[in-house]
Amino acid sequence: MPLDADFVIVNSNELVTITGSSQIPRTKEKMNNLAIITDGAVAVEDGKIVAVGTTDEVLKQLSGEYEIIDAKNKLVTPGLVDPHVHLVFSGTREDELEKMAVLGISYLEIKEQGGGMNKSLKLTADTSFEDQVKITSKILDKMLMHGTTTIEAKSGYEMSFEGEIKQLEIIKKLNEDHPLDLVPTFLAQGIPPEFEHNSDALVDEIVEKWIPEISKRNLAEYADVFCEKGYYTLDQTRSILMAARDHGMKLRNHCDWLAHSGGTRLSVEIGNLVSVDHLIWTPKEEVEALKGQDTVVVLLPTSPFCYVGTYAKAREIIETGLPVAIATDVSAANLCESMQMMMTLAVLRMKMTAAEALVAATINAAHSIDRADRIGSLEVGKDADIVIFDAPNHRFFAYNYGINHVDKVYKKGILVVDNGKRIR
Ligand SMILES: [Zn+2]
Repeated sequence: MPLDADFVIVNSNELVTITGSSQIPRTKEKMNNLAIITDGAVAVEDGKIVAVGTTDEVLKQLSGEYEIIDAKNKLVTPGLVDPHVHLVFSGTREDELEKMAVLGISYLEIKEQGGGMNKSLKLTADTSFEDQVKITSKILDKMLMHGTTTIEAKSGYEMSFEGEIKQLEIIKKLNEDHPLDLVPTFLAQGIPPEFEHNSDALVDEIVEKWIPEISKRNLAEYADVFCEKGYYTLDQTRSILMAARDHGMKLRNHCDWLAHSGGTRLSVEIGNLVSVDHLIWTPKEEVEALKGQDTVVVLLPTSPFCYVGTYAKAREIIETGLPVAIATDVSAANLCESMQMMMTLAVLRMKMTAAEALVAATINAAHSIDRADRIGSLEVGKDADIVIFDAPNHRFFAYNYGINHVDKVYKKGILVVDNGKRIR
């Protein structure tokens, strides 16, 4: 039966479809299978993909009038998915990043000197709702212009009851107003100075008051904890995550980033977290213990690139058979909105292949936020989140790096970026 379409993208040098993994993420050697169609085409109607194939195959199926977009010599991929973003903060910390990168002063030393997280907690709390929306929208614009169409968005930069509700309300508003889709997470991140010597009291408050209210207002799909040296202990992390699960939230965990915290082991004990993130210092046997859990490992190359120095052992984790995603880890500590750059670092610094990096930035990232039924691949019935890159193939992100290759971005079939600029 002939198909109607609003538009069709044709003649793509590489059409990266990544089909067949909407149910289970890609693992091991399957991460090298991008299901590329040469001279590929994808047709879209009412925001959904209606046909995928070679240009000849797709055009034969179409009838009526439709717009034709020529992607000759270009790469077409699913919209990129960024599954780990500390989105809502005010004030930047470029001076501190320089100290960490150049002088080797550690992240925790900066915090002890009154900077770092505590500085961000104060600056963010002092920023109005309206101003914060404007600041945060700029980050989302840059993400969109770099080909990202869906992100996970964490709160955690106020760590007071009213402040965290405000952060999550900002995420909700941006999800409504901005073309990007945002998946909201309550993150127990900083520990405000007044709780520094009594963090159990803060955890009690989070468990007894914050989580029930966040859940009642339906403000967070996920809960996450900074289970890190100098932040939340294993017992505190367990209390927060279990309370969140009791209130219907899905779980993530931020662990083994600055040091081996045991957070990965705890995630296995709690069971079936949707993602565990960082895993830089996780011993092999604790990584292996994640097997059989319904969990995606999210790797974050920016803090190793900027100041931590040591990267997660991506090869070892992939060879274990665990699904791996990558993300920007956008935060007040260091800021890069580009998933293209994450693919560069994944290849050049984490020894992932270009294909593994792209799978990690699309379908596996979609699994890590429970959206793989709708996004992350170019398949009939999925949302038409599509990026056209002015690059000949998927290996170009590691080769021609540090620049933006995006030509066009479609979000649910609507052209939102053209010539690399946001137009809607
Ligand atoms: Zn993070």
